[in-house]
Amino acid sequence: MNVTLLPGKQARVMDDELSSVILGPGVAAQAAYRQAMEAAVAMIAENASRHSIHSGVNADGLRGFLAALEVCPERGTGVFAALEEIGIPAVRHALDVGNPATMAHLHCPVAVPALAAEVLISATNQSLDSWDQSPFATLVEERVLAWLTAFCGLSAEAGGSFTSGGSQSNMTALYLAAERHGAVARSRGVIFASEQAHFSIRKSASILGFAGDAVIAVATDDEGRMSAAALRTAIENATGHGRAPVAVVATAGTTDLGAIDPLADIADLAASHGLWLHVDAAYGGGLLFSRHRHRLAGMERADSIALDFHKMLFQPISCGVLLLGDGANFSPLATKADYLNPEVSIFGDVPNLVESSVQTTRRSDALKVLMTLRSIGCEGLDALVCKTLDNATSAAEAIRARAYLHLAQQPSLSTVLFRYVSPHGAERSDELTLTIRTELFRTGVAALATTVLDGRVHFKLTLLNPNSTPDVIGRVLDAIGDMARELENDHVRT
Ligand SMILES: *Cc1c(COP(=O)(O)O)cnc(C)c1O
Repeated sequence: MNVTLLPGKQARVMDDELSSVILGPGVAAQAAYRQAMEAAVAMIAENASRHSIHSGVNADGLRGFLAALEVCPERGTGVFAALEEIGIPAVRHALDVGNPATMAHLHCPVAVPALAAEVLISATNQSLDSWDQSPFATLVEERVLAWLTAFCGLSAEAGGSFTSGGSQSNMTALYLAAERHGAVARSRGVIFASEQAHFSIRKSASILGFAGDAVIAVATDDEGRMSAAALRTAIENATGHGRAPVAVVATAGTTDLGAIDPLADIADLAASHGLWLHVDAAYGGGLLFSRHRHRLAGMERADSIALDFHKMLFQPISCGVLLLGDGANFSPLATKADYLNPEVSIFGDVPNLVESSVQTTRRSDALKVLMTLRSIGCEGLDALVCKTLDNATSAAEAIRARAYLHLAQQPSLSTVLFRYVSPHGAERSDELTLTIRTELFRTGVAALATTVLDGRVHFKLTLLNPNSTPDVIGRVLDAIGDMARELENDHVRT
């Protein structure tokens, strides 16, 4: 069959032709697949923004375009027309995550080997809920997890599962911790996490049915690290009030400050009180792949670890893992289904990955991690991570060198928090910071974040791209200065 028979503007195809061209198997679908993929790749090359972080189109404009689009027309347009109509704007009006001035969130540029792997992942469409749906992919996940648990210093009993990211990893870990305590967890259970812990901890506790006050915020030191002394007091207080301590969540790399809690001290306390220790290393886990991995010492004593490959490690969304010190602790998730993982295995010695996940149908994200690690190697990853950390140190110096800026603290990982200092006081600083952030984004100059530290609005750079060099950062800081000067002048005039 000729691929020109693809349902298009002129040709109306018969149903049997349609299913064969769109879905395969066979020569026609392969030719159609190749043409569509080549068209998509060319479209990305031709339409990705290079000079600004996005196209500059506002939400009203984009919403208007989409509103005018017939979502499911009576007669299909064919893949090439659809690619042109929807693909071009989808690429052109995307945020350019690879632009070195895109530095607002924990949202990384993506590595080419992982993008190539994504093509294989989507085209083969393997599902990890049973071995007969993913003969190779299941074993890839098994292999990558065995390697990763050992690489993290966990014992031979360790286990793991790929997840959609830190939020799902955190929720699953807290579920497993709670299951140890049965109904007590939901009625009297408490979870300790630092004031700077990720909001998904509270959200998870709420979803899991813990009491509204179950997550106890433990005080942090000046640099945003959990105070071990405060944790000890919090545990004693909770026990004294008849609560049932369930878990302690240590954060290795907080979202704002990149603070790494004192993991070894927290592991000691968790052990002496019989608490489940969860380490949320969604962000800071990237250090494992660098010469700075010693900063995570103590993490290997955790009952569970959340680690995201889509933060510091250049993977396309989504790509996280949950690791368990003892894989047997996944057992509360091992619900049996006759159609999927019956009591008696019919395929012999193969893993039932559905028994360690809250998902059923699940994609093969381990494949892109394997492709990336093998392609880049330890030396390459170390170089990339170190360059990112060095960029953060340079950014801090550049901020110190500018009188109109105030550095909040020396960066711990790759986030840099600083304040604009207005001659008209702190409130004006807060106001202008928000205005400048919005303006820099609107004009496509840079994507920065803002956050609140000690009650005041700060700028936040989240550096995940090694190409966000001191040059790029210098230009962004200057742009902040220029805009602030203009806005302050306007203020004087009005
Ligand atoms: C990003 C982040 C999360 C949430 O992870 P997702 O992958 O976005 O679900 C949790 N914890 C920390 C510390 C994070 O930085």
